Order: sequence, then structure tokens, then C-alpha cells
Amino acid sequence: MVIVKRKDLSLAERLWLPEIGRALSMTLRAIFKPKVTRQYPEEPLPTTAVTRGQPRLRILEDGENLACVSCGLCEAACPAYAITIDGHETERFIEREPEAFEIDMLRCILCGFCEEACPKDAIFMSNELELADFTRAALVYDIDKLKRPTAALTGRMDYFYKVTNRWRNSSSTS
Ligand code: SF4
Ligand code: SF4
Repeated sequence: MVIVKRKDLSLAERLWLPEIGRALSMTLRAIFKPKVTRQYPEEPLPTTAVTRGQPRLRILEDGENLACVSCGLCEAACPAYAITIDGHETERFIEREPEAFEIDMLRCILCGFCEEACPKDAIFMSNELELADFTRAALVYDIDKLKRPTAALTGRMDYFYKVTNRWRNSSSTS
């Protein structure tokens, strides 16, 4: 039989005082560290041009008409089947425009494929991230909810042109 000789504990050790002291000092250090928790929604998330928020349709510089020609490429590219477009002919120089354009924001996965597919620079990922309402139907955005002036999308557009210029240029020379 092996007899293990245990260390004689002091009174403080028997009362767990060293461990309690270490735990308290760790808690105090954490209390005075800079906070990393964001008080959302009072403190909104910072956004940049890289932010891929909800897609929005661009209004041309005339402030009235959409850049969209209702070609349906974004609808075909959307992996979440979130886009539904109904287009019609128009007398304007652009010849076609969407009569109805809906994006189901509950289906949208913010992938940006619609932005990349669009040949008319008509749809861009905005910096709008917030999404909340009381019914599912209210989160199917129609054309009026999707329209944004060009100025509201300029930051994203500049970034988009910068990162896609490489393949835009190489495809134009091939
Ligand atoms: S961001 Fe992606 S999922 Fe959302 S509408 Fe565009 S293509 Fe569809
Ligand atoms: S790809 Fe562009 S132009 Fe074509 S339907 Fe979509 S937003 Fe409109």
C-alpha cells in the first residue's frame, strides 16, 4: 500500500483565499479594459464602401429614371431567387424599363451577384444593413423602396469600379 503524504494547507489555502484573490484581480482587470461590446442599435455598425448591404436600384443623374433596362440578368444571376422583374417597352432612349422590380429581402443573401451581373450599372450593394418589419410581405421591397439616387451609391460604385476594372479592361482587350 502506498501512502501519499499531502501538503499541510495553511488556513488561507483551506479557505481558497489565493484562488479567490486571483479571480477577483482578473475580474477587476476585465472591468477596466476598453469595452468591445457595441450598444446596438443606439451605436450603429460602421459601414464603408466595402460593406455589402442590401441591393438598391440606381436612379440616373436626371433624378427621375432608373438606369435599369429590365434585361433580367440580375434575376438570372441571383442564387437565392430573390429578384422578380417585369419589364416593358418605353419611348425613352433606353427603350426598356422595369414596370415592377421586387427583391425579397428575406431571401437575399447579400452575395452581390446581381451587382456583378448588371450590364448597365443599375443595381449596387448599398450600405443599408438594417432589416426589420412586422410582416414577411413588408420585406419584399418593390421598385419604390429600392430606388436610390446615384449620389447615395457613389462610394460603393467607386469601389466596385476599382475592384472590377482589372477584368473589365482585360475582357475589353480580348
Ligand atoms: S445580393 Fe445576391 S441574393 Fe441578394 S438579390 Fe443580389 S444576387 Fe440575389
Ligand atoms: S441586370 Fe441591371 S439592367 Fe438588367 S434587370 Fe437587373 S438591374 Fe436592370
